[in-house]
Amino acid sequence: MVYKSIMTTDDLAFDQRHIWHPYTSMSQPLPVYPVTEAHGCELTLASGEQLVDGMSSWWATIHGYNHPRLNAAMKAQIDRMSHVMFGGITHPPAVDLCRRLVAMTPEALECVFLADTGSVAVEVAMKMALQYWHAKGESRQRFLTFRNGYHGDTFGAMSVCDPENSMHSLWKGYLPENLFAPAPQSRFDGAWDEADMVGFARLMAAHRHEIAAVILEPIVQGAGGMRIYHPEWLKRIRKMCDREGILLIADEIATGFGRTGKLFACEHAGITPDILCLGKALTGGTMTLSATLTTRHVAETISNGEAGCFMHGPTFMGNPLACAVASESLAILESGEWQTQVAAIEAQLTQQLAAARGSEYVADVRVLGAIGVVETRHPVNMAALQRFFVARGVWVRPFGKLIYLMPPYLISQQQLSKLTRAVVDAVQDPAHFAL
Ligand SMILES: *Cc1c(COP(=O)(O)O)cnc(C)c1O
Repeated sequence: MVYKSIMTTDDLAFDQRHIWHPYTSMSQPLPVYPVTEAHGCELTLASGEQLVDGMSSWWATIHGYNHPRLNAAMKAQIDRMSHVMFGGITHPPAVDLCRRLVAMTPEALECVFLADTGSVAVEVAMKMALQYWHAKGESRQRFLTFRNGYHGDTFGAMSVCDPENSMHSLWKGYLPENLFAPAPQSRFDGAWDEADMVGFARLMAAHRHEIAAVILEPIVQGAGGMRIYHPEWLKRIRKMCDREGILLIADEIATGFGRTGKLFACEHAGITPDILCLGKALTGGTMTLSATLTTRHVAETISNGEAGCFMHGPTFMGNPLACAVASESLAILESGEWQTQVAAIEAQLTQQLAAARGSEYVADVRVLGAIGVVETRHPVNMAALQRFFVARGVWVRPFGKLIYLMPPYLISQQQLSKLTRAVVDAVQDPAHFAL
């Protein structure tokens, strides 16, 4: 199929009647905006209007849309092979990608499992932790995590998401019951409060022989609240896990690949997890691919267990097209230019979003790396706010009480100003909130 750059009202009516979008209702569908092209930091609507992208398509499109190097990598790989099974077969794009991943992540992380989505990378990490303890002859089947976390939409991942945000009440009796410590209160930009640890430490002490792993999003809790917390947390948790032999799973699906100002958020605390989940920006936002990395100790313990192997193997594992473009995306990062870009975005977001603090509807403003968050006092009126942003020529997708920006790293100063001005103006108007 070759598509024209138009969408008819009939197309849009079909969409509303037949197609689910993320977290939407089929009986009361919200409006969707037809996008027919995207270049650099701009989305093109079917009407021809251009919107400056403040979302990077949910953390993914770090190099902007239609990046010539990413496109070239995909085109070259398509003409060799788009896919081949990974059972009993390997290929250059997978080896090249995994070599880069092993080199750019902490030294102890050596073994890579490739999967299709972030949620599956989390499932894989949790399954690895369970198989690890089974192989050691201990029955440990619980995970300890923070409230306000988000780890994906599949059942294992949901079982460690914030119980309220992911409506655990709906799945009662079906979802494994994991352990939830209070969300970190010590802010990244504030003082470390020793009392912050109490709830977590108590849970760990009370369940130390049941816990297979601690799973957390390092430094930034993403979809569960866009909360940015103190690095001391990670140092303490690493120590506690080491003392008990409990595994530490870092879910860097959102934070990985430079977004927080470090290549990986764990670097803010100088810690290495036992298991690391990557996704979202892995392919520069072009294709779906994820990776779960472990230490050799974890990989070998699993492999020496009863099953004799790790019990997972997706059909599209190691998809060559996705691996080829992921490799190219990592090669772009290796030039190091992202560091100055992200630092410039951080400085501009800090300066320009500060004006939002003046609004009576704003509870907090926080910035880290290329992430800017305005937390409001009331939930936003999503449809009204979306209309406002589109009219202002920007693409910003708020949820709950959160209006946030995480633009592609190559965004220009003018484009970013357009985004921050729209956000600052948006929070002045009561019509944008569900009051
Ligand atoms: C998005 C996200 C996931 C899930 O990834 P999908 O590709 O949507 O399945 C898991 N963990 C974190 C931290 C995420 O931000």
